[in-house]
Amino acid sequence: MQTENLNDLLIKCSYCGYCEYVCPIYFITKRRVYSPRWRVKTYIELLNGVSIDKQSTLSLYLCLRCSRCIKECPAEIDIPNLVLEARKKLTGQLLKP
Ligand code: SF4
Ligand code: SF4
Repeated sequence: MQTENLNDLLIKCSYCGYCEYVCPIYFITKRRVYSPRWRVKTYIELLNGVSIDKQSTLSLYLCLRCSRCIKECPAEIDIPNLVLEARKKLTGQLLKP
């Protein structure tokens, strides 16, 4: 599946929060930083070259990529795919000399 580009995401995600209520990680932690929409926000920041903090990084790695959030998202944003792309970007940053 094609990675969402930044402009698409900025237009598509209304930060409505519908995705939060189905995310098992958000359900357990009850913390916004571990919600699907925070992962979208973090992905946008990564694309913009913003360095992200430890909790946002952890949030990306806690995602189960279960796809439950996609079913609730009115914009059908593929968050599990964004999470995968974000993890690749983070790994690339870590491997840079
Ligand atoms: S449900 Fe979709 S549009 Fe709403 S906050 Fe989540 S990712 Fe963004
Ligand atoms: S794919 Fe990730 S963000 Fe979406 S509901 Fe599952 S754990 Fe939460």
